[in-house]
Amino acid sequence: MKQHLQHPVFSVISKLAAEKNVQAFAIGGYVRDIFLNRPSKDIDVVVLGNGIEFAEAVAASLNVKVSVFKNFGTAMLRYQDVEVEFVGARKESYRSDSRKPIVENGTLEDDQKRRDFTINALAISLHPDNYGELIDPFEGITDLNNKLMRTPLNPVETFSDDPLRMMRAIRFASQLGFRIDDEAVAAIKSNLQRIKIVSQERITDELNKIILSPLPSVGFNYLFDTGLLHIIFPQMAALYGVEVINGKGHKDNFYHTLQVLDNICETTGDLWLRWAAILHDIAKPATKRFEQGHGWTFHGHEDKGARMVPKIFTQLKLPLNEKMKFVQKLVQLHLRPIVLSQSVVTDSAVRRLLFEAGDDIEALMLLCKADVTTKNEYKVKKYRQNFELVQQKLKDVEERDNIRNWQPPVTGLDIMQLFGISEGREVGIIKNKIREAILEGEIPNDREAAIKYTIEKGKEIGLKVVAN
Ligand code: ATP
Repeated sequence: MKQHLQHPVFSVISKLAAEKNVQAFAIGGYVRDIFLNRPSKDIDVVVLGNGIEFAEAVAASLNVKVSVFKNFGTAMLRYQDVEVEFVGARKESYRSDSRKPIVENGTLEDDQKRRDFTINALAISLHPDNYGELIDPFEGITDLNNKLMRTPLNPVETFSDDPLRMMRAIRFASQLGFRIDDEAVAAIKSNLQRIKIVSQERITDELNKIILSPLPSVGFNYLFDTGLLHIIFPQMAALYGVEVINGKGHKDNFYHTLQVLDNICETTGDLWLRWAAILHDIAKPATKRFEQGHGWTFHGHEDKGARMVPKIFTQLKLPLNEKMKFVQKLVQLHLRPIVLSQSVVTDSAVRRLLFEAGDDIEALMLLCKADVTTKNEYKVKKYRQNFELVQQKLKDVEERDNIRNWQPPVTGLDIMQLFGISEGREVGIIKNKIREAILEGEIPNDREAAIKYTIEKGKEIGLKVVAN
């Protein structure tokens, strides 16, 4: 163990532990991450005694500042590249209406018992008497080796005391590729309603960590199978299921969405693009129809889905800013490259897509590629080839026409000056005609051609040129 305690901060803590005759331990995530080979910069230290006083002594010895949080009984200091948080060992008991425990001083074992999972309850002694000794009363190392999430105490109580731990269990399972112990899964199922005492911000924080994990379907399958998803994100749970009429079924949109999400994680670490994958088909349940002689349709699910995005972001307390707009745009446009790839690709269709997607065109193409989840090898190959074609066309058209960040070559002011008119309907009509003509390829995207076209269109609606 000692070789993992190389950071100079540990020797200072150890020296002071001897001097002051107190026991001190590294504990929690930092110790877990040593065994997972995930170097971490956040060190939690538990002291048998006054954590704040001990932190102040360590800070003085290191000649750094210390921040004290009296209400929490904790103190934090930064030294070189690490952040160390000190706390006195504590024993916790809970009331039913709050995640906040009643806290009293306790032993190391009390402190380990209050931890959420056995893998998070590992401690390493920092006192010189037994420096580097691992203290693992709940077989956390065995669970790490078996890739198992298990609670140190009865999981029903653990999750009832602090229901955020249910989200944390699923989040760790998804981040680490671990299984959640059967008893713990059953305990989540029996504590579902308790999630309601957790703030939306904390829930969404865990949800985002699940989404950012290597294979988010692991986490979402747990959320769905336990029933948590139905409470925290019912619109996504509603994607589940297959309906059959006249022997015709449609694909299960929940599992399809998970597949698209996992697929996109291979190409991007961007949280918002991953959110776009989650939401791309979110309006399918609401737009589902069975049309006789035709089968299942989801007409307009992209428009309705885009309209649902702000509501879902509000409900989940996700930011209502340009990130939301980005997700909304991708949901709105997600069918467009596929349509392009299936039919004859005209320049004007490509120009329109570039105009609407702007700088998000690459993200949109990634989403569309991830959206191909058919098991039919032939179809996959065909779609891929078509996407290559669309991508080449996008490149060609962009090089030639510069549509991506399109600015009109003739402005409203130009139009007003040209015809000696003031702001009004006519200006708007002419601006639209110019944009359409450029997107349709009737005129090139340059000023000279656009002015000529403006004069023509102005005359058609009875305007006279007064200036050049
Ligand atoms: P990460 O840094 O990936 O979020 P972590 O385990 O380090 O993982 P923290 O939230 O920093 O997460 O928590 C540090 C330690 O505190 C945990 O390892 C665990 O021992 C304990 N802990 C955190 N939250 C809880 C909780 N809700 N219930 C019980 N113990 C918790």
